[in-house]
Amino acid sequence: MKQETDKPREACGVFGVYAPGGEAALLTYMGLYALQHRGQESAGITVSDGEKLQLYKDEGLVPEVFSEKILEGLSGPLAIGHVHYPTRGNTGYLNAQPLLVRYRKGSLALAHNGSLVNSAALRAELEEQGSVFQTSVDSEVIANLLARKDREGIVSALVDCMQVFQGSYALVLLTRDLLIGARDPHGLRPLTLGTLPGGGYVLASETCALDTIGASFLRDVEPGEVVVIEGGRLRSLQGVKPLCRALCSFEFIYFARPDSVIDGMNVHLARNRAGQRLAREHPVEADLVIAVPDSGTSAAIGYARAAGIPFGEGMIKNQYVGRTFISPGQEAREKRVQLKLNPIRAVVKGKRVVVVDDSIVRGTTSHRIVKLLRKAGAREVHIRVSSPPVASPCYFGINTPTYEELVGAQNQVAAIEKRIGADSLGFLSLEGLVESIGMAEDRLCLACFTGKYPVKQVTIDN
Ligand code: SF4
Repeated sequence: MKQETDKPREACGVFGVYAPGGEAALLTYMGLYALQHRGQESAGITVSDGEKLQLYKDEGLVPEVFSEKILEGLSGPLAIGHVHYPTRGNTGYLNAQPLLVRYRKGSLALAHNGSLVNSAALRAELEEQGSVFQTSVDSEVIANLLARKDREGIVSALVDCMQVFQGSYALVLLTRDLLIGARDPHGLRPLTLGTLPGGGYVLASETCALDTIGASFLRDVEPGEVVVIEGGRLRSLQGVKPLCRALCSFEFIYFARPDSVIDGMNVHLARNRAGQRLAREHPVEADLVIAVPDSGTSAAIGYARAAGIPFGEGMIKNQYVGRTFISPGQEAREKRVQLKLNPIRAVVKGKRVVVVDDSIVRGTTSHRIVKLLRKAGAREVHIRVSSPPVASPCYFGINTPTYEELVGAQNQVAAIEKRIGADSLGFLSLEGLVESIGMAEDRLCLACFTGKYPVKQVTIDN
């Protein structure tokens, strides 16, 4: 059963490696392990030994999908991998990635993080021309187009495709002898490039995957750039003209791991600055600052420091709540909160508590947290959120609820405060968020807060 949470969900993590030593599958396994937070529905690896491509993928977490024996069977110096979280019903084995297709020029594997806003139109056009689709993921549209446009090699086919793709994509492609990475012209989704100590290259959604396998950070793939790794050499070309930069700000708020560095900015430090700024924007008399673990922790530490209030561990997160039998819906979401979070009574009892969360999407989690803390004896509960209210859905591969479910789209702050039952509620301002991330506002996507989307002609795929 798909997880129902009160957070937007990252739609995927991608990884690719050229390892001349031949241990590409093991490195990809470790890289995907580090990217597990970006997708828990399914995982997959495709390797090339220079002759043929082999794929293994299944539903489940990375360590559930792969065993030592399976990895030993995936030999070769080139590999790509993917962890998947479904958006808009793209669930199940069929939609797991990488996608491996065989066409007139050979085999091609592809892993994609993002969402093409014109995917429905592209799919309809391809179907008109006789294409048959097995899955509902954009990646199959991409693979189909690539196969059709491959007349002078896969790199020029990719460049052709990038002229018609609209939306977000961090792509890794694998053929018999090529590893290719590409990033959309807005740079909406992150993609980073690293080197292996003994020679070789790595592509990953986040730098935490480079650190995990002992690779060194080289640079981020630039918006609209294509990087090609062939025979141990790296070359780069501008696949499509870069457009206004619009890195997803939610990477810094919630998606990315705190140890990752995205486009030059460390995620933990950005969250910590957001917490400090939040304390200045929404001060409150209190005895204790606690975090909604884990993504609220960096901001809570920042809030506590700036406010001069002690930080304490007041809530424990059960790390083992994966897929459960609980069915979707409001009541189910509340049960999940109970399964997932528990206050430490001895810490919060009799205290005026500030609870720092990274975001509020539906408001259901905050409501439950307030109830749990009051039950545990907290005298006052003040909710502080290190991002502005989420008021618009995302069309770029992030699973956010509809307008009707978004608490920020339907309510003013005072109404949300009443609804969640807190003694007070404060959201970080948009300016505060931008300043905390440390990038200019016009280099970030902030559409789920502002409704101003960086890609025009947004159409919703169903
Ligand atoms: S709309 Fe929000 S979640 Fe989607 S890409 Fe933009 S900032 Fe990220």
